[in-house]
Amino acid sequence: MDFTTVEKNLNDRGFQVTIFENQEEAVKYLETQINGQTVGFGGSVTLEQMGLYEALQSHNQVFWHWRIPEGKTGQEVKQAAAAAKVYISSVNALAKTGEIINIDGNCNRVSSIFYGHEKVYLILGENKIEEDYERALYRARNTAAPRNAKRLRINTPCAQKGEKCYDCKSPDRICRGLSVLWEKPTSGEFEVILVCQDLGF
Ligand code: SF4
Repeated sequence: MDFTTVEKNLNDRGFQVTIFENQEEAVKYLETQINGQTVGFGGSVTLEQMGLYEALQSHNQVFWHWRIPEGKTGQEVKQAAAAAKVYISSVNALAKTGEIINIDGNCNRVSSIFYGHEKVYLILGENKIEEDYERALYRARNTAAPRNAKRLRINTPCAQKGEKCYDCKSPDRICRGLSVLWEKPTSGEFEVILVCQDLGF
């Protein structure tokens, strides 16, 4: 995929952009950039697929509620992640026009993307990129969220019936908050890591 347009539009909105051929190169780069830091992770199949927690935790203090250490609760780990200097997440969809979209259930991920860290890295594969905001929003709601619901094996119509959003009223609903970054927030550095391969949902 040619990233020229999306890179320019992200730059115009204040985001730093770095592009990699594959996940291995992206992990190597992040290992050089993040050293001796406290690091929070959002829930993400992309980060899992990259093995990024394992790569960073040997020389950083990494907090991820998908890797809860013995003696800690998920809530404690999420709070530590929210207080970390660096925060890393994927995104559910990115528009070529530059809007960055996420949907969340617990909303720890979307709130941490918005505020509270010295630096935020947003990592995504080319499968998350859509032509414009409307199509990116559609992707986040009708592709990313149902696939996550299926992964979690929860009792929602999207997980049971098929890959689209039914705007359900299920108690298991995972879509409770929508975040759109129109521009880089005023405080903190933001870097978008684009990887030329499919990653996550
Ligand atoms: S709102 Fe409900 S049906 Fe729609 S994607 Fe989320 S969990 Fe699935």
